[in-house]
Amino acid sequence: MRDNVGKHVGWAKGITAAAGFVLLVAGCTAVGAAPRASALPSATPSGVVLPTSTPRSQFAGQQGEVVTERAVTTPTLRLAPTQTAGARLLLPTTTPRPLLPTPSPAPSPAVAATATLAPTPDGTTRTVRVPILMYHYLSTPPADADIYRQDLSVPPERFAAHLDRMLADGYTTISLYDLQAHLMQGAPLPEKPVVITFDDGYRDNYENAFPLLRERGMTATFFVVTDFIDEERPAYLTWDMVREMHAGGMFIESHGRNHASLKGRDADFLVWQALGSLETIEHELGVRPRFISYPAGEFDQHTIDIFQSANYWAGATTVQGATHSSADPFRLTRVRVRNTTTPDELSRLLALEW
Ligand SMILES: [Zn+2]
Repeated sequence: MRDNVGKHVGWAKGITAAAGFVLLVAGCTAVGAAPRASALPSATPSGVVLPTSTPRSQFAGQQGEVVTERAVTTPTLRLAPTQTAGARLLLPTTTPRPLLPTPSPAPSPAVAATATLAPTPDGTTRTVRVPILMYHYLSTPPADADIYRQDLSVPPERFAAHLDRMLADGYTTISLYDLQAHLMQGAPLPEKPVVITFDDGYRDNYENAFPLLRERGMTATFFVVTDFIDEERPAYLTWDMVREMHAGGMFIESHGRNHASLKGRDADFLVWQALGSLETIEHELGVRPRFISYPAGEFDQHTIDIFQSANYWAGATTVQGATHSSADPFRLTRVRVRNTTTPDELSRLLALEW
């Protein structure tokens, strides 16, 4: 089992001890869990190129709470340095996705699911102001919805008005990959870039947001909770929906396995969240996610260290703002969009120097 894990996480051999440890503990407590992974191939030496579609490991197959409390010893982690050459050797292909979405109003053509290379930092520290909008529900909330659900819900008509206002104001939607390439290597950005993100992966994102984005040739990033999709919860996306959105030019990234807080947790738990969600998305889409949106906005330095060691590139917070630094990619600020956010208010927020 450890060899199999090692194959998946060959980028940081030091972490495999923790990984194997979690598997052993989780394996003892799994009841009726049916991992979808087929027989895993035998272990391969590190540095060997991984196949494009990786079978789900045990990380991705277990359900329920991991029993980290049983840990008697804390495994020693040797964190991988950021974007080492060795880490890049493990990536399957080298074809990056287009830097910018096609500005055509026609529906975006299917974009092939390919892995992306980490933009190697060129040593220049950059600061850039790019608003990253944060949406949740994209529907009219039910009449009996509590104030939280109300606040997190943007009706489709209002979202359409938001998109039209962004276009009228001259904004271009970009991906977090574009932002990362700019921060790390100075890759050019359009004059008025904006990133649209959705947290939680609600089904209304597919039903309502995706068509409105696609018909305008705009893109967005969807942070999904992988266990919720595996459990086929009706309020959340299905993997078929996620695949269709990805093929339609949307970006699918991690919001953890089960939306548990990532703050104040031990290494086992964080590895389980980081690798479990990453490998599940990679298995389902054939492309590895690189960004984490911290559930409920909760994280600490340990969270960042573990996700960075798992070859995530950056993290989205719920801290309000629009300025990002290449020195701190795991603390991307965002701009919360509320039920009450009018197009005028959105326009004001997008132009704010913060
Ligand atoms: Zn969330």
